[in-house]
Amino acid sequence: MQKIKSINPATEEIIEEIEVASLEKVKQAVANARKAFPKWSTTSLDTRIKWMKKLIPLIEQKKDEIAQTITKEMGKPISLSKTEPYRAIEDITFYSGNIKEFLKEEVVFEDDEEKDIMVYEPLGVVAIITPWNFPIATVFEPLIPALLCGNTVLFKPSEQTLIVGRKIAELFIELEKQGFPKHVFNLILGGKEIGKQLVQQDVDMVAFTGSSRAGKEIMKDSAEKMHKLVLEMGGKDPAIVCKDADVSYAAKRIVRNACKNTGQICCAIERVYVEDGVYDEFVNKAVEEAKKIKVGDPTKKETEMGPFVAKFQEKINIDHVKDAKEKGAKIEVGGHTIGNKGYFFEPTIITDVGHNMKIMKDETFGPIVPIMKVNSIDEAIKFSNDTIYGLTGSVWTKDIEKGSKIAHKLQVGVASVNAHGGGKQGSAWGGAKTSGLGRLGTKEGTHEFTNVKTIRVKK
Ligand code: NAD
Repeated sequence: MQKIKSINPATEEIIEEIEVASLEKVKQAVANARKAFPKWSTTSLDTRIKWMKKLIPLIEQKKDEIAQTITKEMGKPISLSKTEPYRAIEDITFYSGNIKEFLKEEVVFEDDEEKDIMVYEPLGVVAIITPWNFPIATVFEPLIPALLCGNTVLFKPSEQTLIVGRKIAELFIELEKQGFPKHVFNLILGGKEIGKQLVQQDVDMVAFTGSSRAGKEIMKDSAEKMHKLVLEMGGKDPAIVCKDADVSYAAKRIVRNACKNTGQICCAIERVYVEDGVYDEFVNKAVEEAKKIKVGDPTKKETEMGPFVAKFQEKINIDHVKDAKEKGAKIEVGGHTIGNKGYFFEPTIITDVGHNMKIMKDETFGPIVPIMKVNSIDEAIKFSNDTIYGLTGSVWTKDIEKGSKIAHKLQVGVASVNAHGGGKQGSAWGGAKTSGLGRLGTKEGTHEFTNVKTIRVKK
């Protein structure tokens, strides 16, 4: 029997040793999900909506427990952990309210002889594999549309947040007590190996959120069976600060964005290009802001930045800072770990950076803001797009029209003006290049979880 240690990253104490699934258990779970599919897929949409809505009071009852577990298991400041259950409720509310419209049949052609109709049918068994950085939000985003579309689900949480994963399963155990059919939702606990084994089974779709490295591996492992895929992956998000930006506002928002969740956000700003003219002012303001961030015990409500999730994340950040220094970068503030216990790191501002450095090329996933001076906006756009990633990007300027034009030129899934990250509920979520395949969050995103079928009727 294999076990994974769940470690509190703030104290390095072992919280629990958790038994993980075997290959046999994975196969059994897939068979169970397959068996539950015919009934669930033919259950009326009204009933499926009713069941998803019944999750809301269960989440509300457990919201504090869920938030505390997130903080303990992955070090997220409690104030931020508390927002995650609400994001799950938002997803349920959004999809429950829109799913009928999203799955409505469409007549796409009609003349005297023929009528062609597009219908959206359930796919079958969907494997949902998720990361640790938003261990509730990244699960409900694909889970709710997958279930509402009539699929059965196998859910494998990250090895870093197995206890949070179990909390999600507990919601479904409660739902089953109320009559929700068994094995429509199935939990598989395990690490990368179990994830890999799951992908190699007879599933119909893999909805994955995680690193681009794992996404590529999943694509290879899915090739044989041609699983339908939605892959939400990593980023190296750029921010462009124009000469005419509100520099104080931009510096504050950019530094806060980059350090939120200790920089462990797929769409965190990881590179900043500042137009000559406001560069010095921007760097000074960014340093001021970085110094203000309250780093410490994530269980305290005033804490703004907790530790990294684990040692491996700390190692990547130390390595990126070292590589940057060796290649001539200047550390304006930060750059070091904090204390002897827990994986704490200083909010860090780095200048004199170049695209030969890891800090400007690879995903850092840490509270580090590398800032580069550019001579023109064209140069900033060129550097912004000089990456294998394309998740989100932003432009900071008082000229909204100019900002929108620049936003159009960024090769990303979401481009913002005077803001950064994903749009509001209802807008598409996903990346370009190696950051994403497929979309979540819209009618099109919902259709990812269906077989989009044309029915032709000859009159
Ligand atoms: P990861 O890729 O290491 O793991 C993600 C999940 O995939 C885990 O459950 C893991 O066990 C599993 N896994 C890993 N290798 C696998 C394989 N070969 N086959 C099947 N499953 C496998 O990522 P992580 O460290 O958990 O999370 C951080 C990454 O996730 C970052 O790159 C971040 O940018 C990305 N992320 C992306 C989004 C998005 O919406 N685009 C959201 C959150 C996080």
